Amino acid sequence: MPEVASTCCYCGVGCGVLISRRDGRITGVRGDPHHPANFGKLCSKGQTLHQTVHGHGRALYPEYRKSRDKPRVRASWDETLGYVADRFADTIRRYGPDSVAFYISGQLLTEDYYAFNKLARALVGTNNIDSNSRLCMSSAVAGYKTTLGADAPPACYEDIDHADCILIAGSNTAWAHPILFRRIEAAKAKNPDLKIIVVDPRRTATAELADLHLAIQPGTDVALFLGMLNTLLWENLTDPAYIDAHTEGFDALKLVTRDYAPELAAQLCGISKDDLLTAARWFGQSKAALSLYCMGLNQSSCGTDKNAALINLHLATGQIGRPGAGPFSLTGQPNAMGGRETGSMANLLIGHRNLQDADDRAEVAKLWGVPSISGHTGKTAVEMFDAIRRGEIKAVWIACTNPAQSMPDQAAVREALTRAELVVLQETCNDTETAAYADVLLPAAGWGEKEGTVTNSERRISRVRPAVAAPEEARPDWRIACDFALELEHRLHGHTSTLFAFDSPRQIFNEYRELTRGRTTDITGLGYATLDAKGPQQWPYRMDARHGTQRLYENGVFPTATGRARFTAVHYLPVAENVDARYPLRLNTGRLRDQWHGMSRSGRVAKLWGHAPEPALMLNPADLARRNIAPGELVTVDSRRGTLTLIAEADAGIAPGQAFLPMHWGSRYLSGTGTNALTLPVIDPRSFQPELKHSAIRIDKAVLPWRLMAVGTPGDGDALALLSRAQPLLAEFEFASCTLTPDANGVLLRAASAKPPCAKTLEKIHTLFELDGNAVLRYADPRRGVTRAVRLTDGHVSGACLSGDAIGETWLREFHAQGLSVAALGSRLLAPTATAPVALAARGRIICSCHGVGETTILGVLQATTGDAGSKLAAVQEQLRCGTQCGSCLPELRKLVSASVIAA
Ligand code: SF4
Repeated sequence: MPEVASTCCYCGVGCGVLISRRDGRITGVRGDPHHPANFGKLCSKGQTLHQTVHGHGRALYPEYRKSRDKPRVRASWDETLGYVADRFADTIRRYGPDSVAFYISGQLLTEDYYAFNKLARALVGTNNIDSNSRLCMSSAVAGYKTTLGADAPPACYEDIDHADCILIAGSNTAWAHPILFRRIEAAKAKNPDLKIIVVDPRRTATAELADLHLAIQPGTDVALFLGMLNTLLWENLTDPAYIDAHTEGFDALKLVTRDYAPELAAQLCGISKDDLLTAARWFGQSKAALSLYCMGLNQSSCGTDKNAALINLHLATGQIGRPGAGPFSLTGQPNAMGGRETGSMANLLIGHRNLQDADDRAEVAKLWGVPSISGHTGKTAVEMFDAIRRGEIKAVWIACTNPAQSMPDQAAVREALTRAELVVLQETCNDTETAAYADVLLPAAGWGEKEGTVTNSERRISRVRPAVAAPEEARPDWRIACDFALELEHRLHGHTSTLFAFDSPRQIFNEYRELTRGRTTDITGLGYATLDAKGPQQWPYRMDARHGTQRLYENGVFPTATGRARFTAVHYLPVAENVDARYPLRLNTGRLRDQWHGMSRSGRVAKLWGHAPEPALMLNPADLARRNIAPGELVTVDSRRGTLTLIAEADAGIAPGQAFLPMHWGSRYLSGTGTNALTLPVIDPRSFQPELKHSAIRIDKAVLPWRLMAVGTPGDGDALALLSRAQPLLAEFEFASCTLTPDANGVLLRAASAKPPCAKTLEKIHTLFELDGNAVLRYADPRRGVTRAVRLTDGHVSGACLSGDAIGETWLREFHAQGLSVAALGSRLLAPTATAPVALAARGRIICSCHGVGETTILGVLQATTGDAGSKLAAVQEQLRCGTQCGSCLPELRKLVSASVIAA
């Protein structure tokens, strides 16, 4: 069977993949050597995509329930969609079109987006349609529109090769956009004079490559950019000719800039004045300066200002519309851009039209053949869930996203989902946090099963192609939206029209294409046939074009009323929730290298758990010491909205007074409601994006003396099924985490509480981990409440549970993970000793997930190798193969190498 060319469904880099299949199953994936986003490379997540498709947890059949006290039951598509259409029609008739809402996703394909958009705006008559992209890049949209006149990233990936200064702000590109980072590494290797500036409160893997790391205080980006502009002005590093010819509003901005002398700006940012001056000079003196930015600017209560302040720097220096120059927003999701282009957000309209513009609305209505488009601005994500909670929105349709994990202030969001009269969930999996709240579950086709298009960060439209049929009754997202629309139209209007008479995604694409005619997103020259023949193309791609548009604004003309770009006179505003005596630490959230969003896909791949095996809060070692907390101990973390109990770990890359918690953790892997129990729902007034990047917290040592550790490989080999059976147990402990083990196809459950749980809970755990059979060694000390059980298979630990004190859990886990023989241990296996009874080499944290190489192993080779950094890196790569496949671990390898060189 030939491989099928498609696109990775994780991040906005949009790498091309080749999918292999056999007998109706996806069997492998590799990078597409011809795709211009990645030229054959894939990161650790992309190259394990094929392992996310099959197995436990897929939604396979429609299900619904009429009453909340009953479970959902399987039903036919006709019956289920008929039920939902009845409920939606009834709600719309009784309370009006704005009483229903659609919350969709940057993971949808452009054709899916289009169908939902038409459903909400043309049929229902509401603008209550928003996307989870609201949480990641709506500030970038507002920033571009405010300054350049349109939501169009002007640069392209190739600009990395032409730049001689790259400013990376609020982006851990090394982990969040790894293949793009490989390109930055290559550019730096080719041109050592390339200056890389990284602006980030944390010393991330990206910052390790920087020539200058500006570890600013959270939320002070605007002050930094204004301070840099002040310097550019004083040192005549602006481009007056460009400003005169192509921009407007510079005088007003200059006035603001006066208040941000380098000393003051540096002080606000908590960095040295010299570093600020250096950054400004490198940016201003470079022939081509490129900025790459992401959530650190966007997820903020003044995210639009942060974006605009950075774009101001480009306009003031003429660093735009040339090879190697431009403000380049990186998108988090694979098709966040497609959502922007199709106007699939509450305050946007298709083809970069303006929802507030009556002519634009009339034009869309005419093209769709409907009387009108509502002029009421719809509810954006945070507003939408608030309105659900207040009872204004009665029914919500959620597609391909997991708000019960990803939205800020989980207590409020979960209350909204409980209060909603009807929650419809369209998903590939039936076990996300949101699935627990769904009255209706509609099984959707997933990656490798769908057809359509996506747009990556550089405006490049790629084809997504199916390699296999969707399992059982799962349907493509566009098809579900259209099937429902036909049912609803019949109920609302007594007939069905041609509005949703689509038979294929190609038809939808062709209709959508017509709505881009003459717009900034014009793709009238593009169709599936062109994409198939010529490969991925960048928009605009007009009717008479022979190829897409690599770079925008090369002629200095911008899509504004005057044709000039607009400087924006922004002021620095502090974060929405500042620290105080009660909540003295600043919490930053972000991504792990090997996980994706709410982990509904990446969490299914055991090897992706090696790099960050358990949920942990990272703190500066001094902050831990000051509180007398040792790394690995449990802490309670409180914000004004919620509490979590977590393992605390030390990370010298976190500044004192700050903390970092990955965004991925939800209630499937951790007791409580996950990371977003703590985060803040305050939104930017123009982009409506919440400040997920900053909230005030406090931490205290958790006093939970009763401990449990259970680990095991299930006899039937289905670790995912064991994980899902163990997850409900998390709620029974004050702290608990449940994860896949990267080795031995197992599951690890760790728990702690003030008092022992009831005997039934322990019994349940023993049954789940198959510790109730004859091949189990047991030890119990009822007086101390300690039990130990170890299951052996062929002389190896295949399962174990330690409860009470859990002493010895580390080495027992290691025996399980490494599959080591325990023949020589005998009853010592049950001995509660802190260290292993025999010599045991722990591998430490997995650095290279491709080859399962741990930190300790790498350090051993580095210690045994002499020479400079280059020869040490080569030795590690040659002997252990780490860093030779996907390259995602290279930044950490280099860090270990340089520490080893310094130590030597
Ligand atoms: Fe997928 Fe990784 Fe490429 Fe992003 S960088 S598109 S996650 S392979």
